Amino acid sequence: MRAFTATLGTETNTFSPMPTGMRNFEQTMLLRPGEHPPHITEVTAPLWATRRRGEALGWTVIEGTCAFAMPAGRTVRRVYEALRDEILEQLRDALPLDLVALGMHGAMVADGYDDCEGDFLVRVREIVGPKTAVGIEIDPHCHVTEAMVANTDAIICFKEYPHTDYRERAGELLDILSGTAEGKLRPRISVHDCGMLATYPTTREPMKGFLERLRQLEQEEGVLSISIAHGFPWGDVPDVGTKVIVVTHDAAAKGDALARQLGREIFGLRTRVAPKFQTIEAGLDDALEGDGPVVVADTADNPGGGAPGDSTFLLHELLRRGVQDACYAPIWDPVAVGLCFEAGEGATLALRIGGKMGPTSGDPLDLTGRVTKLAADAQQTFDGNPSPLGDAAAFEVEGVHIVLISTRDQAFGTDLFTNLGIDPAAKRLVVVKSSQHFYAGFGPIAKRVVYINGPGALQADFTKLPYRNLRRRLWPMVDDPFAEPGGVR
Ligand SMILES: [Zn+2]
Repeated sequence: MRAFTATLGTETNTFSPMPTGMRNFEQTMLLRPGEHPPHITEVTAPLWATRRRGEALGWTVIEGTCAFAMPAGRTVRRVYEALRDEILEQLRDALPLDLVALGMHGAMVADGYDDCEGDFLVRVREIVGPKTAVGIEIDPHCHVTEAMVANTDAIICFKEYPHTDYRERAGELLDILSGTAEGKLRPRISVHDCGMLATYPTTREPMKGFLERLRQLEQEEGVLSISIAHGFPWGDVPDVGTKVIVVTHDAAAKGDALARQLGREIFGLRTRVAPKFQTIEAGLDDALEGDGPVVVADTADNPGGGAPGDSTFLLHELLRRGVQDACYAPIWDPVAVGLCFEAGEGATLALRIGGKMGPTSGDPLDLTGRVTKLAADAQQTFDGNPSPLGDAAAFEVEGVHIVLISTRDQAFGTDLFTNLGIDPAAKRLVVVKSSQHFYAGFGPIAKRVVYINGPGALQADFTKLPYRNLRRRLWPMVDDPFAEPGGVR
């Protein structure tokens, strides 16, 4: 068996003011053949799984480039094209191939390319021909398109949000692809469009129970995999929205029916799947009741969804109220971090913080405080893997301990604070810039979790997003997208 594996992706928030260029890829992940580490990461799980399978079964595995950028705005055209063509050249050189296993995101948008994954997969199929098994493991925050489906044998999304199950999903992808390459499986992909936009944390009901059902349904005869593509509402592209993907062994009719049934069930849950988002004022009122630590998610400025990570709306209100015994992280502000390093640990200084990237970041805050700790090349942990923060500084302003970072990232692990000498478990209020991934690390220390969605690049009221490219009408813009003229089929 000859197998090729590579990764290309990012999650594009088309409403974000930040372009995604080569520097972002270099800073996040740009690994050439021979540079791949032995450990698994979320976005290189197919490479890791193909390598392990190859070692166990004596395959020839050709490892291509793995490129991934921290979510931000549209990818610069020449950057996407350069990375795409680099991997396609490696693919051409690797021919003939029995299988191709790719790590992608599913929501990558570049200047001139609304559907980078579709564009890439059309070219992959042209190169390898119709007989090679081609499959992708993607993030559920994706736009599933006809081009992606038409040019793959299997599409598998992570099931969990936070995304903690990429290992298992990569293993399933390899099962399907190797079975296909050996002639034992004839996978058919069925997709149902749910006609809606929403977010779907799987740490709470109803999605927690729904996933249990999916796992049982996957045991049925002929069903190879079921994915809920949550969709990524902050991508203004024609295919945005929630979809169900069912991969069967040569049972397209059964797959279609199952995808439709599950899709209609999800539509039935539409008002219950997302957590209740509160305004900054109501959310802080709520969070300040009772004992701590209460973990507050500043969801509107989650860098993991492409937001800048330097908005000040929530911090401003926290300071205005004189809340003591709180910590807040991370705020992306390399200039402020540089000044803290210049002043040194223990220094008191006036610092201008955040609010630099545009209207969705609010105004910068001019604060006088104390540098309590500095950490060069700091990092935090997500699911056992390090996530770099660049140089970081802890800055205390009237009882609020703020973590400033110089490499954009969302809040994943409690070591985001503890590495800077702050114990979040001992605080009354712990504010994190993240939508849901924080839950894996902070859930265990939280008495309660409060989700706030104020102003920012990740507006949770989708009816207020300035979409221009929607091809069909979706809930919550319309009550019943299936009944509307021009609605979902
Ligand atoms: Zn995601």
